[in-house]
Amino acid sequence: MTTLAYFEGRIVPIEQAQVSITCHTLHYGTGCFGGLRGYWNETHEQLYAFRLVDHYTRFLNSAKLLMCRFDYTPQQLADITVELLSREGWRQNCYIRPIAYKDDGVFRVWLHDANDKIAIFSQPVGKYLEADKGAKVCVSSWRRVDDTAIPARGKVNGAYVNSALVKSDAMLSGFDDALVLNQDGHVSEGSAANFMMVRDGAIVTPPITSNLLEGITRKTLIQLAREELGLEVIERDIDRTELYIAEEAFYCGTGVQVAAIGSIDHRLVGNGSTGPITQQLRDIYFRVVLGEMPKYSHWLTPVPVLETV
Ligand code: PMP
Repeated sequence: MTTLAYFEGRIVPIEQAQVSITCHTLHYGTGCFGGLRGYWNETHEQLYAFRLVDHYTRFLNSAKLLMCRFDYTPQQLADITVELLSREGWRQNCYIRPIAYKDDGVFRVWLHDANDKIAIFSQPVGKYLEADKGAKVCVSSWRRVDDTAIPARGKVNGAYVNSALVKSDAMLSGFDDALVLNQDGHVSEGSAANFMMVRDGAIVTPPITSNLLEGITRKTLIQLAREELGLEVIERDIDRTELYIAEEAFYCGTGVQVAAIGSIDHRLVGNGSTGPITQQLRDIYFRVVLGEMPKYSHWLTPVPVLETV
């Protein structure tokens, strides 16, 4: 259970981290957030936070899109997070949620000249379960928010109405999730995860100009696929019908990690379970986040264990 939050410049009991009903961001979606993970390595007896500075760089970039004015650097936010996690003392995997919001009243619908604030809290998440059955996915009738309307490249609160419309529609129609097309009809991403597929043995993924979140897991897997598996990774537009003939397809993101897609619009992908390349990438990803591949230890921040007296 979460007990602490970074709020108004201090770490406080979570009950004290409250915003007002008049909060601008609550009304207009004018905030942004992040989603990070800490991985508990049982053998090392160590919690590793994954790519903190990269996540906070994206977070501050999302805030910049919203004209937030912060003096924090990514490293400062990383240090605050480490202190928060250290004081929570998680001995299991956890999820970390920073949020930037405009702590103003509701009368001015603008971004500039606002009282911008940052809060951070974390919570335990269950151990990852090996899922060999791929997700049942459709192509959504909703389109992804366009960069000319609300930027998808940052984690902007208000844009998550788009994700929620996609997700609920898919689930209530009997699917696990949906892939979303952008305004020009190419594949963008899932409701809350980036998308990759395998064609002719190469990994293909939409470019960051396709109205998708600039995912940290996406970036990580592109590097691991090239460096560790020697695979070709192609960033290019993906047509809807290419989805139907992909050899493998999977989602990637901090939440889903690496999750196989078993069918798209009722067409089986491969044999419907985790494909061989997806499996290899997933195995490497978990070794990296658990601190078992020293080559990538610069992506991990070990969280110090506080001595209890
Ligand atoms: N796209 C969307 C819309 C998301 O919400 C997420 C989850 N943060 C992702 C992609 C994956 O991004 P990341 O790998 O940085 O978690």
